[in-house]
Amino acid sequence: MLKLYNTLTRQIEDFKPLNPPNVGIYTCGPTVYREVHIGNFRTYLLSDFLRRILEYNGYKVTLIKNITDVGHMRQVGHGHHAVQIDPIIKEALDQGKTPLQIAEHYTKLFLEDEKKLNILKATVYPKATEHIKEMIEMISMLLKKGLAYETDGTIYFDVKKFKDYGKLSGNTLDKMDKLLKAVRISVETDKKDSVDFALWKQAEKGRLMKWDSPWGEGFPGWHIECSAMSMKYLGNIFDIHTGGEDLIFPHHEDEIAQSEGATGCKFINYWLHGGYLLVDNKKMSRSKRNVYTIADLEHRKFDALSFRYLTMMTHYRTKMNFTFDALSSAQIALNRLREEIANWDKPKIGCAEYEQRFLESINDDLNMPEALAIVWELVNSDYPTSAKAESLFRFDKVLGLNLAQVKSSSRFNRDKVKSLEIPEKIMGMVKEREGLRRQKRYHLADQLRNKIKKMGYNVQDTERGSKVRKI
Ligand SMILES: [Zn+2]
Repeated sequence: MLKLYNTLTRQIEDFKPLNPPNVGIYTCGPTVYREVHIGNFRTYLLSDFLRRILEYNGYKVTLIKNITDVGHMRQVGHGHHAVQIDPIIKEALDQGKTPLQIAEHYTKLFLEDEKKLNILKATVYPKATEHIKEMIEMISMLLKKGLAYETDGTIYFDVKKFKDYGKLSGNTLDKMDKLLKAVRISVETDKKDSVDFALWKQAEKGRLMKWDSPWGEGFPGWHIECSAMSMKYLGNIFDIHTGGEDLIFPHHEDEIAQSEGATGCKFINYWLHGGYLLVDNKKMSRSKRNVYTIADLEHRKFDALSFRYLTMMTHYRTKMNFTFDALSSAQIALNRLREEIANWDKPKIGCAEYEQRFLESINDDLNMPEALAIVWELVNSDYPTSAKAESLFRFDKVLGLNLAQVKSSSRFNRDKVKSLEIPEKIMGMVKEREGLRRQKRYHLADQLRNKIKKMGYNVQDTERGSKVRKI
């Protein structure tokens, strides 16, 4: 039985899907205005391990990961107020491109990085810009139910009307005033209460990204995007929602308020949140120049999969401290694993004992560090390599280290390297000559050897067949 830590109940629970064997997962995806960093990828790896573990347990997973390509912030600052300038629009203006060109470029890079990390493709990657209609519909519903109000083309969620507010984060209304002043730096002074948040914002003059709505030209808030898109693809209620722990408040708290406010029923059964990633024990920040991307790791000659391996060494809810020393250790371990496998026999019957323990570990709230320890116990065990291979390739459905591919590609690469040095035509003649020799037609074989020599290649006969070398 799979057990998961549920942020909503703050305890480890048995996982019971709504419609077995189907499981729906929604993962908050990237805002695409620059390269996604390794801290975000730690979160996406969490949802990938979760999805693979569910599939390992026989479930059929639908995984939705949104692409935030709508700028949710103001394009320019207003007067004296400190305003966060919208990053997508800013990047577009800086580069002389449209916001959609920026979004497309970084979406492509994001998907390439996911592939390098062997993160399985989401069932759908819905884009916010393609779901404005669904967001408007949901906002209209909230207005109709009296849970939202309009002020001058901007729509706010009326937090005090939603009695369950705070159930995920613990930031209940009485604790909130102070907190919200810290997180919502806002020029919107027209709301009824400082705790209210925007569902739709009226477009400022000259804004690049804006859409028509019943309340005039504007753009959606960030939270409404995830409510509208998750429900469109997974239904009003679904099994699991994941994200980084920084999203618990206000983003996920607001998602619950919007979704449960609109439908009147429970939104999500299990909330899973990944811990922070620190770099050299410090928070990542551009000013400290310690924000790393997958490309940065590759420039330093690391394999992207070494980062995947590294994330498995820390439990997903624990703070992870990234250092290049730690990444080197992960890379060395991964290389050793690949080298071991290269000499193993073909997979046959696996090791039941290890398979049982591996399953127990991954089902214990995704205990990947323990699962990895079991992998190494298996590798170092006295079982025949055919049994180790069978079990390890099975485990790799969860680990996602492409181990079976490594095994076949090491063979593939050896053949490829040989044939790369020698033109195909020559290799064809060498093979033909080997055939003649097998038939003991040595005279013809010698003639062919001379012909090959004239073309610039020496053939030498050895115990293991012919060796060809360029003269
Ligand atoms: Zn989200």
